[in-house]
Amino acid sequence: MIVLKFGGTSVGSAQRIRAVAHMVSAIAGRKIVILSAMSGTTDALVQLAQRIINAQWQEAEEAVVALEARYHSVIEELFETSALRKEVWQALAPIFAELRSQTHNEAFTQNDEKRILSRGEIISTTLMAFTLREYENLNAVHLDALSFMRINHNGEPEPQHIEKHLTPLLTAAPDPNALFLTEGYICINAFGEIDNLRRGGSDYTATLVGEAARAEAIEIWTDIDGLHNNDPRVVNVTSPVRRLHFGEAAELAHFGSKILHPTCIEPARRANIPIRLLNTLDPLAPGTLISCETSRDMVKAVSAKDGISLLTLRRHPHIKSGSPLCDYVIAITQLIAKHNLCVDLLTTMGDSYLIAVEEAPEVAQFAEEAKEWGSVLYQKDMTIVAVVGDMGWDRMGFESRILDAIDDIPIRMISYGSSNYSLVLVVGTVDKKRAMIALSDHLFANINLQSPEIG
Ligand code: ASP
Ligand code: MG
Repeated sequence: MIVLKFGGTSVGSAQRIRAVAHMVSAIAGRKIVILSAMSGTTDALVQLAQRIINAQWQEAEEAVVALEARYHSVIEELFETSALRKEVWQALAPIFAELRSQTHNEAFTQNDEKRILSRGEIISTTLMAFTLREYENLNAVHLDALSFMRINHNGEPEPQHIEKHLTPLLTAAPDPNALFLTEGYICINAFGEIDNLRRGGSDYTATLVGEAARAEAIEIWTDIDGLHNNDPRVVNVTSPVRRLHFGEAAELAHFGSKILHPTCIEPARRANIPIRLLNTLDPLAPGTLISCETSRDMVKAVSAKDGISLLTLRRHPHIKSGSPLCDYVIAITQLIAKHNLCVDLLTTMGDSYLIAVEEAPEVAQFAEEAKEWGSVLYQKDMTIVAVVGDMGWDRMGFESRILDAIDDIPIRMISYGSSNYSLVLVVGTVDKKRAMIALSDHLFANINLQSPEIG
């Protein structure tokens, strides 16, 4: 079994949908195809929900009309006969009717919002099923993601539940060339309501399904040739990284590489299933292979995550006299848990703490309450820059090369040694671009020059 996930741009037009259908129909063996919503759709649905929340009824209605018009023209282009267009439109009409019925909903709940967000993947999967039937003569077996993909009370996926409910659906279609088709991103939550795996979550669906189906490989198809060694939106010259260890890829995804959902590597790593990142616009390009093997002793890539705040906490001396250090440690840790902060990095030395967190309204509350224990310095507008590669502590020289590269940039925090795969820095967001360019220039100059992709 192989799992193939196609992202929003890979199914972003009638032409792309036809190309994907053609490509998957040519693959021998059992396969599960997972789709994102067509590009722009989830953004449009997010915006629609926001308008309903703001009671902008007129604008909400316009958003549905615009979305409906877009899909009308996709259907027009995708299917040749009017009988077929009518049939497809009949399949989608209830979705648009439902969206329209929500545009004046004064009692709009979070639950309604999640339901709205789920429609994009249901639409793209429906269009693909018709395309496969009409143009490839293939009846894909539809797997309703809502019947097996479940998250728990903490929003975490439940692998055992997924496997238990997916397996019978797969065994019910024993054809050695069966093509299964399912929606990425969407799921059921612990209350049985429609929910999702957060933005970009179709990657996560792919690796969770891969794990549950014990797939031999997971292919994630996007619109770029694999994962690049720096962010192409920030740095002019980048080149694809051909091999990454699961651990390296997980850190890049976590620390801002937009090509992958932040937590999607874990299921593949648990089940030891290689992930290939491939390009639908250039299917023969080698892409990036993520597996348990990697090229050793190499810095592979740089990524960055904005929206970070830094908290410097220093225990009041008078608290010290009465209570041991561990009371302070416990108090701060409990406070982090109470406010549910997303802590990315944490260092502690003696009486002080330095914490890099994702900025959120709760951070200010945390900072206020932490003042009971000590002084608090709260700095916003920080960026985490992660330098990722195979560079365990016993391999010498990486740290100095990395720090040399950015010796004219003020570094607010350094984390090294808790992972074998990264050295992570915090810099002011104003210095991010300069830091990323300097790192590329110093670490990848030769690699980037050799790359045939650079025009
Ligand atoms: N459609 C969802 C999004 O835009 C999920 C995904 O594409 O992976 O975030
Ligand atoms: Mg994506």
